[in-house]
Amino acid sequence: MMKKQKPCPYCEGKGYVEIRDCSGEVQREETCVFCEGTGHVIKQKEANN
Ligand SMILES: [Zn+2]
Repeated sequence: MMKKQKPCPYCEGKGYVEIRDCSGEVQREETCVFCEGTGHVIKQKEANN
């Protein structure tokens, strides 16, 4: 059985996002709140293809 999983568009499937300061330097990596660190989003509703 396969679950339908899509790469998280927010973190691009990485599961974390890079927090940058104003100069564009990466300060730290934070768990993506959108996918909760899984790197993909599981659709609750069936999307039409
Ligand atoms: Zn994410």
